[in-house]
Amino acid sequence: MRTSPNVIITGTPGVGKTIHCEQLAQETGLRHFSINQVAKDRGCFESFDEELQTWIVDEDKLLDAIEDEMPLGGYLIDWHACDLFPKSWVDLVVVLRCPSTDILYDRLSARGYKEAKLEENIDAEIFGVLMEEAQEAFDEEIVVMLNSEKDEDVESNCARISSWIEAWKKSQAEGQS
Ligand code: ADP
Repeated sequence: MRTSPNVIITGTPGVGKTIHCEQLAQETGLRHFSINQVAKDRGCFESFDEELQTWIVDEDKLLDAIEDEMPLGGYLIDWHACDLFPKSWVDLVVVLRCPSTDILYDRLSARGYKEAKLEENIDAEIFGVLMEEAQEAFDEEIVVMLNSEKDEDVESNCARISSWIEAWKKSQAEGQS
């Protein structure tokens, strides 16, 4: 049984997953698990999508690569998908949203994204693709949606997620005693 939870921080590229995970890792001691980095380090990329200028992850390889660690708990999982992870590995799913497409557009163009990739991501955000994926894959009680447009949002979101993590640990410890 886990003594520290696994929290997925998901959302369209540019919504603020990395900035939230970095701050949360400092505040909570949970480990920032950037799936992009893990896939790169452990050879889980399958192919390169030329049009979208992005690497495609081989999900089976990725799950094999993390199955000994992730179920133990204590991870902040940073990835723009969530439905590949088994339900039993996941305690909370945070879907970050950026309803202002102007803000998201500026963040993504600052990264030098090409037009096709920009459009695909802006559309995904408008249609709430990640939110729907999270709601379909996990029980509704563990899926929360938080806005990430301004600096203050990062502060309040991290404070909220940190207190949730503390409460989870406490109730887990009480359950075991
Ligand atoms: P992701 O990991 O989801 O792709 P990042 O965390 O890399 O997104 O954020 C993309 C850019 O947007 C970064 O420059 C980050 O500092 C900025 N950013 C993200 N969320 C916010 C926010 N809530 N307020 C201000 N800037 C933000």
